[in-house]
Amino acid sequence: MSTKSREVIFGSQIAGAKIRAEGARQRAREAVREADRAEAEAWSIRMEGYGGPAQPSPTLGQCLNGGLGWLQVRCHRCKTEASIPLDCVRRPKDTPIWKLEASLKCRSCRKGRYAPPVHMIRLTEERETVPYVWVHPDEER
Ligand SMILES: [Zn+2]
Repeated sequence: MSTKSREVIFGSQIAGAKIRAEGARQRAREAVREADRAEAEAWSIRMEGYGGPAQPSPTLGQCLNGGLGWLQVRCHRCKTEASIPLDCVRRPKDTPIWKLEASLKCRSCRKGRYAPPVHMIRLTEERETVPYVWVHPDEER
């Protein structure tokens, strides 16, 4: 076999294998995304349907990867609702989202260091209500 035909045969086999590898990686990414979304949805349904428990919960990264990038919350005192954009929360992506609850504070009810508790309602794909009346978790450090 000449060097030339060897290149043609093995070259195309290598290219084919690389394409298969990339395809498999792509399917793996999609499977992870699907699993992340299902995980986030299950948590969201539990929160909205039963009011919790909030733990265990998916992580920030799982919610974002699954396409549920907004957290809907309600102030226990004034009942104001807000949508928190998860991609703006400056926490490690492996932070479970229940951990955000303690740092979310309603701006109108906050008095100094004290703020009434916040209730996480559900995860959503889109913003449901105006997010900026609320103190974001990353402002409080
Ligand atoms: Zn409030």
